[in-house]
Order: sequence, then structure tokens, then C-alpha cells
Amino acid sequence: MKSSDTDRKGGRSISEGICLRRLDYGNTSQVVSFLTPGAGRIDCMARGAWRAPKKGVAAGIDLLAKYRLHYKTSRHGSLDTLLDFSMIEHFGGLRLSAGRAICGYYGVELMRNFTAHEQDCGQLYGVFLDKLRQFAAGERLGTGVLELEIAALRHYGSCPDFSCCAECRGSWEKVAPSHFCARRGGVLCRHCGEPRGGKMMPDVYPAHKVSAVTLLCHLCRETGGAGVAAEPDAAVAAGKILRYHISRLLGKELRMWKYLHGRHYTRSLARMRPGSPGVVPN
Ligand SMILES: [Zn+2]
Repeated sequence: MKSSDTDRKGGRSISEGICLRRLDYGNTSQVVSFLTPGAGRIDCMARGAWRAPKKGVAAGIDLLAKYRLHYKTSRHGSLDTLLDFSMIEHFGGLRLSAGRAICGYYGVELMRNFTAHEQDCGQLYGVFLDKLRQFAAGERLGTGVLELEIAALRHYGSCPDFSCCAECRGSWEKVAPSHFCARRGGVLCRHCGEPRGGKMMPDVYPAHKVSAVTLLCHLCRETGGAGVAAEPDAAVAAGKILRYHISRLLGKELRMWKYLHGRHYTRSLARMRPGSPGVVPN
């Protein structure tokens, strides 16, 4: 069995999973949510998770760590029972700086909003795991967040098309982009997106920056591999477009956005070397 598979027998499952949430319950137990590749999000009761084993100290289950899980699925919509767990990977580098931690916690918030119980999410799980490793190493925090957002939107079936104008399908080489349109689920060109008769179209967000739209187009095309690097201001503008789309989709703002847009994030983006190979031109 591959480590990413979910193996089920008689209501008992073996899988790997990343901890998305944990609450202490009583003196020694925890209620824990995991993201698993085969069964989506699962909510477990981990009885005695805080109880010290025969040797060593009580460990409990950590947020943002990867575990090997053995659990019993419940039939009536109540919590699954965690029978056994062991940590496989802890992404310790995430705790080394505020910028890395913010990206990791934002990943958790995205997964909690875009995945469901009993829904296969193998591809998204793979991207999440990849990004956690990348964030823990302090690499490409800016574009990594964008790639994770795009993967979550793709899993949800609502990833916008940035390759051309969503209305006339015209290329960005001929007419520059103007606005992102939530109803159309894409960017409109200057001809289609500008106000008509002095009135702005509803549900639109400014998307004038060609480099941001080009970056989103590249990231949406990218399937695995090294990914593309980006200039900091293009990555920030691209993030704003994606987050506008997510806010219209979910009908709410995500809690980590204010931290993402804060100074740690801006600093880490500013450290990216402009003009390095793979930078998308303006
Ligand atoms: Zn157009």
C-alpha cells in the first residue's frame, strides 16, 4: 500500500493525514480534524492522546503535522475514533518565522473551507503537502500561496480562466486586461470591462496589471514541477484578484488574509530577487 492510499476494512481505515484542527477534550483526549488524500476531511475523537505512553512524555496531536492514522469510521455522522497515530512529518521550519507560519496556517484555513468529508482530494492533498514543505523551508512563500489557492479552487471546480478575456475571448497581447468579473469567473479586457454609459459593471474588481494576470495564467497552466517565480508586486496584485474571487465564492473573507497582507508577507516577497530566471515579464 502506498502511504497516500486510504485502506478500509470493516469500518477501520488506515491513511496518512495532516492535522487541520485539534481541541482538547477532557483531561487526556482531543477532537482532531485531519485532511486525508482518499477520504477528504475526517473528524476524530482521539481518546487518551495526551496520556503519557510507557516510555517518554505525552505528545498529543500537533496542528500542521503529518500522521499515519488508524481509525474507525462512524456510521451515524458522529466522530470517527482514532485507534492509533504516529507522526511522520512535522514541518518544523514553519515555526521559524512569522511569515512561514502565516502561510502554513493560511493553508489550513483554505483546506478547511475547500474540502469536504468523504470526498477524495488526492491531488489537492499532494499540492498542500508540497507547499507545507516549501513554506517550512522558507522558499517562494508568495507564489506558493497563489499555487495553493489555485489548487483549492480547482478542486472546488471554480478556478477562473485567466488565459484570455472571459467575454470576447480576446488575447491580452491585443487588448490589455481591465477587471476581474466574479459573475463571468474571469478577467475582462479593456473593451468588455470598462464602464458603460458611465456605470461600472457589478461584481467586478480592478485587474489592470498585465504582469499579475500573466502570472495567474502561468500558475494555472503549471502542473507540478518547479513552478514560476514572480515579481513581488505582480504576486501581491494576483493574490488580491484570487482573494476577491474566493470572497465572492464563499460569501466571506478568510481570517488569515489580514496577516498575509501584513508586513511579514510583504517583507518575504521583497526579499525575492527581481530578474531571477523564470520571472514573468511585465
Ligand atoms: Zn473582451
